[in-house]
Amino acid sequence: MKVSVLGSGSRGNSVLVMAGTTRVLVDAGFSARSLEDRLGSLGVLPEEIQAIVVTHDHGDHTRGVGVFARRHGTPVFLTDPTREACGSLFRGKERLESYRAGFPFSVGSLTVHPFLTAHDARDPVAVSLTDSESGFKLGIATDLGRPTSQVRHALSDCDILILEANHDPGLLHQGPYPASVRSRIASSHGHLSNEAAAQFAVELLHPRLAAVVLAHLSAECNRPTLAEAVVGEALKGAGYRGVLEVAEQDAPTRLMDVDRLRKRMGPDQLALM
Ligand SMILES: [Zn+2]
Ligand SMILES: [Zn+2]
Repeated sequence: MKVSVLGSGSRGNSVLVMAGTTRVLVDAGFSARSLEDRLGSLGVLPEEIQAIVVTHDHGDHTRGVGVFARRHGTPVFLTDPTREACGSLFRGKERLESYRAGFPFSVGSLTVHPFLTAHDARDPVAVSLTDSESGFKLGIATDLGRPTSQVRHALSDCDILILEANHDPGLLHQGPYPASVRSRIASSHGHLSNEAAAQFAVELLHPRLAAVVLAHLSAECNRPTLAEAVVGEALKGAGYRGVLEVAEQDAPTRLMDVDRLRKRMGPDQLALM
């Protein structure tokens, strides 16, 4: 399994997941052109994408989905309420497939497990994906609201975890947003702070976790170095020896090869925990 966060933040989110010959995008929150460029920088052609899985209707997750799907004939998987909420993106020519939270479905060798979150979207869903060949599991949780027990369960035993570290509470307080927006972000239906992400990452830590990618950082109310320091310190204190990266808004992360990351960790991680 190989994974790249093509970009993440309030101006767009998309994750590329590759397993064998299967290529899937989770969310398409950039223009189709930008998605094509980002894929191209990793050597992936848009027509290789076998599915776009849309997690929820917010524009930063859906912006380019209609144009990309029409241009490349890519099937789009989404829940019925999400389809209703972002109907203006579609022209009736796309292949739209319905899924429901709690009911896994397959795309090539990947199984997608959708689960409900407490985020303030019409039908807020997050997903984990498992590779049927290697058994590797990726969890993507960038619009969580708060970590419910259902979310905790769904994200257990991941080999690689993409987790939101949205804001620093101090910067959020001083930031440019009106009070209503600030309280929405910090509420239990908004986004996780660096501290909440750190705590959740430690809860999800287990001996096979090879990589944590921090994502959906607020451009105004967070700093990559701050998020990395807060979550990194907590993980290190709990014995984590895997990789920690921070996804950027404007450029894809490297293509992370889960098999290689696991081998790189060696037996030490297992002995430690
Ligand atoms: Zn959202
Ligand atoms: Zn979002």
